[in-house]
Amino acid sequence: MRRITKEALKAIMNEAYTNCREDNSGKNADYIPYLAKVDSNLFGIAICLPDGEMMSVGDCDYIFGIESVSKVMTAILIIKKYGAETVMNMIGADATGLPFNSIMAILLENDHPSTPLVNAGAISAVSMVTPVGDSKSKWENILANINDLCGSELTLIDELYKSESISNFNNRAIAWLLKNYERIYDNPELSLDLYTRQCSLGVTAKQLAVCAATIANNGLNPLTKKQVYNNGISAKIISMIAAVGFYENTGDWIFSSGIPAKSGVGGGIMGVLPGALGIAAFAPPLDGAGNSVKAQKALKYIMQRLGVHIFGSERLIIEN
Ligand code: GLN
Repeated sequence: MRRITKEALKAIMNEAYTNCREDNSGKNADYIPYLAKVDSNLFGIAICLPDGEMMSVGDCDYIFGIESVSKVMTAILIIKKYGAETVMNMIGADATGLPFNSIMAILLENDHPSTPLVNAGAISAVSMVTPVGDSKSKWENILANINDLCGSELTLIDELYKSESISNFNNRAIAWLLKNYERIYDNPELSLDLYTRQCSLGVTAKQLAVCAATIANNGLNPLTKKQVYNNGISAKIISMIAAVGFYENTGDWIFSSGIPAKSGVGGGIMGVLPGALGIAAFAPPLDGAGNSVKAQKALKYIMQRLGVHIFGSERLIIEN
């Protein structure tokens, strides 16, 4: 067991912020025009504890594009609806070892499911959201679930949605290729549109930290006290995050950081330490795999200072 006070945890978070804020490496995503224009200097870290206490430093109220972090939320929604076994059979829970938008992954695994945490599986996951064929109600269900997990409402960044909708040709190819392999379960264009919309939701680092804490807390939102899901879903979703949260860099990430985390090209990263805490960091410049450089560095710094690893035997106990 590794005990730490809330004060000490806060001090480590602040140290991580100071230590990482000068790192100017990486580059904003530019294949989505909106993201290229976001201020590259923004940086924030937020930690939410299972008792609802929030600690944060930097730009944690700035609203940025949730992008691929939303894949986690919608994966939870369909696991809740269909059960983990069915989701594994219809989509999968495997690592692709390839970039998030890989067409090759679909070709290689055409007889074999992949995961809701890469673009192909995420579009497929959206297609499974009920009621099938009803875009408006599906969107309401997607959004309500994300709001429940984050503990407050997210709103669409209209400009991002438009920007992404006019440039998402690769994802359109993915949607239709899924159709070819009978791995999409609603209209491909409708599914692609809803996927694009969920990626264009605006979120803050604090909201992502609440979502991470809800997952760390077995589905009980520490802020609203709402039981968003139950039945062991946390173990399933954390397995998926641990397997593929950083795409082709996931093995290196989990090995070196010790915390399962999911990234998005908007610069957000959401990390879950089961039973202990939820953490989010945000900084727009990305590495070559599309993961925020500063956010990765900050999470790694904090985990190293805490001296725990998800696969280690030491549990983190946070005390008053
Ligand atoms: N909406 C983005 C895309 O489909 C999400 C990618 C990401 O965040 N890795 O390309």
